[in-house]
Amino acid sequence: MSSTGIRAILFDKDGTLFDFFRTWMPLYEKLADLLVGGDRARIERMLRGSGYDPATGRLDPGSPLAAGSNRSIAESWIGELPGTDLEALTRRMDARFAESLTLNPVPVTDLAALFGRLKRRGLKLGVATMDSHAAAAAAIETYKLVGLVDFVAGYDSGHGEKPGPGMVHAFCRMIELPERSVAVVGDTPHDMEMARSAGAGLAIGVLTGASSREVLADYADHVLASIAELERLL
Ligand SMILES: [Mg+2]
Repeated sequence: MSSTGIRAILFDKDGTLFDFFRTWMPLYEKLADLLVGGDRARIERMLRGSGYDPATGRLDPGSPLAAGSNRSIAESWIGELPGTDLEALTRRMDARFAESLTLNPVPVTDLAALFGRLKRRGLKLGVATMDSHAAAAAAIETYKLVGLVDFVAGYDSGHGEKPGPGMVHAFCRMIELPERSVAVVGDTPHDMEMARSAGAGLAIGVLTGASSREVLADYADHVLASIAELERLL
């Protein structure tokens, strides 16, 4: 599909603007390390058993680490933690990860620099996430994107949820451009399905999230290593 005619980009947040692996893997690894007192062999078995492939540095897309709840991760770890209570471990993960993630999501690239360059090319930019509107707005503020982002939507913004088309339609109403002029960028099939269901001009998958190239290729017009490659494409 032609990339010309794209005048706006709607970005997913987690796994797209923020690197899923660089944000989450250190948290998982640190907690596993704490739980087993630094026993490397057990840490590796826990991470591998919950979906991490140390050979590729990737996660199995359907695994607890990639797609599951903290409870499902706790379930996959508990065999290596004799005497540990599943509920207590799940609560410990919930508390630890909620705090860490709010404080330190790892951006894929210099977001303010990238967004600044895209804006100078005349593109309208939006963020559409299944996280809350408040969390998205906070990230935009923290990473100095205020004034560069024209639109923000969370699951609770009143535009529906992915993979429904509502967030794309709301973006288009705000920027007064047709759906075919919008590129949707995301790390999951849901993002790509949202692009399709809304009639967006391009669906672009990125590999900084929980999905593999093989999974995204079935849904996306293009699959990029990361948003850092966007300017070359558009
Ligand atoms: Mg995502």
